[in-house]
Amino acid sequence: MPGFTLFVSDLHLTAERPAATQAFFWLLAGPAREADALYILGDLFEYWAGDDDLGEPFNASVAAALRSLANAGIAVYFLQGNRDFLVQRMFARAAGVTLISDPTVVDLYGTRTVLLHGDTLCTDDKRYQAFRRRVRRPWFQRLLLLTPLSFRRRLIERTRRVSELEKRVKKTDIMDVNAQAVAHTFREQGAQRIIHGHTHRPARHLHEVDGTPRERWVLSDWYTRGQYLKAAADGCEAVEIAFQS
Ligand code: MN
Repeated sequence: MPGFTLFVSDLHLTAERPAATQAFFWLLAGPAREADALYILGDLFEYWAGDDDLGEPFNASVAAALRSLANAGIAVYFLQGNRDFLVQRMFARAAGVTLISDPTVVDLYGTRTVLLHGDTLCTDDKRYQAFRRRVRRPWFQRLLLLTPLSFRRRLIERTRRVSELEKRVKKTDIMDVNAQAVAHTFREQGAQRIIHGHTHRPARHLHEVDGTPRERWVLSDWYTRGQYLKAAADGCEAVEIAFQS
């Protein structure tokens, strides 16, 4: 049977939205078992305060579900999103996933494909990019992880509230990818395809860069229904998962 690989992102899993979690567990127990690999391209969690939060029952249940797929022999890769960039080795070990960097380039059945969360492509949002640079510094993360878990949870809640307020006044076009950043990524990585999430604007875009046609798949969020991208030798296909009510 010809192989295929699955991609998801922006599930924003939280105990408060059980339908998305159920759909994800169904994916892990069902279609993902037939796949060559599963890639999670960031924002699996609504937020991740640190790997010391693995003891929380909801977080533990997600790690266990991933672990059972890994135990079945399916490779699972995890690329951090802006909500879960504090996911580190302890989570990876518990969940049986391999952390990959942003961006990562893979040969997907003969097509050179760039995988990334997508926030680095949104270069028009200068304030966000400055924030990202600050919080992604290794020394900042080490320092942050030395603070009590309860402090981090409160800090993240506060940051999210501010960001929600800002989103209401930000122009929607600055929250999408920048065309030059996309062209640059294709060129720099010599890729024919990009797969990313983050913008919550699922689509297949056709690009022409240096006279060569290329494609960019944007993954869906999981707010109202689930979705995964199925990639095989003959191309990609977006597949929806209806939520059980
Ligand atoms: Mn994101």
